[in-house]
Amino acid sequence: MKYRSTRGGVSGLSFVEAVMMGLADDGGLLVPDSIPNVSEEMASWADASYGELATAIMSRYIDDIPHEVLSELVRTAYASFDHPDVTPVVQVGDVHVLELFHGPTLAFKDVALQFLGAVFEWVLERDAKAINIVGATSGDTGSAAIAGVRGKRNINIFIMFPEGRTSPTQELQMTTVSDANVHNIGVEGSFDDCQSILKETFSDIEFKRAHSLAAVNSVNWTRVLAQVVYYFFAWYRIGQPAQFEVCVPTGNFGNIFAGYIARQMGLPISRFILATNENDILHRFFSTGVYSRGEVKQTHSPAMDIQVSSNLERYLYFLMGCSGENVRQFMAQFVNEGHAEIPMNTRILDDCFHSGAADNEATLKTIRDVYDETGYVLDPHTAVAMHVASSHRGDGPLLVLSTAHPAKFSEAIGLAGVPVVGHPSLDQLSELPTRKQVIPADVDTLKQTIVQLSAH
Ligand SMILES: *Cc1c(COP(=O)(O)O)cnc(C)c1O
Repeated sequence: MKYRSTRGGVSGLSFVEAVMMGLADDGGLLVPDSIPNVSEEMASWADASYGELATAIMSRYIDDIPHEVLSELVRTAYASFDHPDVTPVVQVGDVHVLELFHGPTLAFKDVALQFLGAVFEWVLERDAKAINIVGATSGDTGSAAIAGVRGKRNINIFIMFPEGRTSPTQELQMTTVSDANVHNIGVEGSFDDCQSILKETFSDIEFKRAHSLAAVNSVNWTRVLAQVVYYFFAWYRIGQPAQFEVCVPTGNFGNIFAGYIARQMGLPISRFILATNENDILHRFFSTGVYSRGEVKQTHSPAMDIQVSSNLERYLYFLMGCSGENVRQFMAQFVNEGHAEIPMNTRILDDCFHSGAADNEATLKTIRDVYDETGYVLDPHTAVAMHVASSHRGDGPLLVLSTAHPAKFSEAIGLAGVPVVGHPSLDQLSELPTRKQVIPADVDTLKQTIVQLSAH
């Protein structure tokens, strides 16, 4: 399988080359040349463990890592999860909930980042190279990325987060990590400021090469690929229905895009219910075809407080007939004018996406209602999905993706009037020493910081 950029300027990359490039050199996102259909093999995977399924699915997209090595990387990645199923499915009322939070930082991003960390380590060892990972987080990516590479040789990691805007627990999960290769950077600005500084740093190709920058944000194709697996896994666990609906709490469009890939591969997902919080750029896009930036609002589901969804570009690429030119024009217009519309003549109507938004009040009410009815405690991100799903679902089986453990967001759980749940891995954090550096939202300051700290 080869990879190319959504903007047409890069092509012919192998999987490992695509992983190492992160964001494509032309500013686009890397996508596979084709999406393999696996309908024929699906029956033979019914009894596979999570690791076996992951190896089988991901090997369709990876031909430059030997099969035994891939299988070992998968094993290493998921050994840190606290459930034998890795991503178990539980029944909550008449909804199947896919719990994606059994990894080391208790959020779904561990599923991809534990694997990405293992891939990086193997490639760098093989090629005798070192990298500086630079990432931005609205909360959960940072700690999950850090957990994926802490203490690994040949890797430094720099994580930017909007200073004071992540939850206290999320910040502690990053700043209490004491490994010397981990650098936390609080940015005085919003998450979108962090993302735009990140994009700017990576688009300085000379700087990127000179300092061997690598990406862990969901622009990295490996993240999407690792997430494709659990859509299949869940389908087996709910009894291989002829069709099912999936509701995904969405921010950067990474998780739900992985579901879209699974559907293109033959998984019988009848439709997606895309759920956003009050930051509803994607809900507006899917209901009007217009992609327009709004003001970022702080909500109870901070990992979804996003007004520019970087992974949407991959979907646009497929929607616009795999034309790099069309994507380039659309993104240029969006950057220059703050909004862009899918041109009618290139819009290949795809009605598999339905969408809705939940405000803070609905989020808390859903946490309370679901607890009262079933005794199950939802984290606020999953509550956004539950709320939207309840008004958009059809008659068939419904799978809701649960993206975080409720212990990570105890403030919202408390506000909802539901007993707060704890988790042993979080209980110790407030007693540990912390490390971070605070910088203004400025790309040159970030570059200086990287140069200084990577020299040690
Ligand atoms: C990152 C995150 C999301 C949003 O996922 P995207 O891939 O950005 O759409 C939702 N919930 C939680 C808990 C997250 O950490």
